[in-house]
Amino acid sequence: MKDATRSLAQAIKAGNRRALAKAVTLVESTRAADRIEATALRAALAGRGDAALRIGLTGTPGVGKSTFIEAFGRHLTGQGKRVAVLAVDPSSARTGGSILGDKTRMPELSRDPNAFIRPTPSRSTLGGVADQTRAVIDLCAAAGFDVILVETVGVGQSETMVAGMTDIFALLIAPAGGDELQGVKRGIMELAEIVLVNKADGDLAAQATRTAADYAGALRLMRRMPGTPDGFPKVKTISATEGQGLAEVWQDMRMLAAWRDDNGITQTRRAAQRLSAFHEAVERQIMAHFATDAALKSATERAASRVETGAISPENAAADLLATAFGGPNPNLSDDE
Ligand code: GDP
Repeated sequence: MKDATRSLAQAIKAGNRRALAKAVTLVESTRAADRIEATALRAALAGRGDAALRIGLTGTPGVGKSTFIEAFGRHLTGQGKRVAVLAVDPSSARTGGSILGDKTRMPELSRDPNAFIRPTPSRSTLGGVADQTRAVIDLCAAAGFDVILVETVGVGQSETMVAGMTDIFALLIAPAGGDELQGVKRGIMELAEIVLVNKADGDLAAQATRTAADYAGALRLMRRMPGTPDGFPKVKTISATEGQGLAEVWQDMRMLAAWRDDNGITQTRRAAQRLSAFHEAVERQIMAHFATDAALKSATERAASRVETGAISPENAAADLLATAFGGPNPNLSDDE
């Protein structure tokens, strides 16, 4: 490891925010030299920061995520907590611009010395975004942040991804007219331990209460969420603009986290998350190896054209290719073939 990497790791452990920002840039870089340094840095910090509570937060645009994070984040920093906010928006790579202009979305929190706000990385693939987000979460945890909020935009895949790297997942919804459940995908509902009906103020207050009751009813009909105490998933009304309900949200989150710690669930969950990160990394690194190794790249192209003409089956071509890469015979071909 380079001396610079070692001292960067030290500065992060000491909670230096500039060092953290530099490290985030490093793990998001696609330059080969940076990748090597980033890997060394992640290794140097591995196992640090288990105490950080990782919270995923989702909700469709306009529901009040930025307003909530600003208010909730300030509530936490007001209690002396250090709060990191990360945003995941896999669509921003495609649309060119991030919808998450964080300085303007959370003006006070972004000036707060106990907060660290980082916008979405701009890698295009979900796998790349997942790996980077995980890396940034780990960096923030190593830097001693107490709470790491990972915000995602309600499009489906990214929610599952974020739920797979956090301790608690919260869904923010708005008061709905009628009794429909606002098109929140069932899959997303199933991920959320905490559902917050925002904008429970002024004219919307009564509607928010009805929406909360509708959701509570719908959640009762769903399978009981494993690894949660009685009363979860929890549905609450809040007002992000008026700061109403924020203390209760934090209390619920702390209660859930403490219960899971006491019952060994946090540890099991994080172990499972590390394991799936490992499997993803194996897949990604194999794919990267095939894409960069010249001999394998041309072997892949040759196999691809034989598959196209029907000369070989896709399965056999793939097995051949793997045999070429890693040695050994094609396991799909028995002796008499
Ligand atoms: P995001 O797209 O999910 O980040 O939503 P924003 O935080 O940008 O909020 C969208 C709009 O809803 C803004 O006009 C906010 O002022 C408004 N809003 C957010 N929270 C509340 C709330 O608690 N009550 C009311 N009445 N409006 C809110």
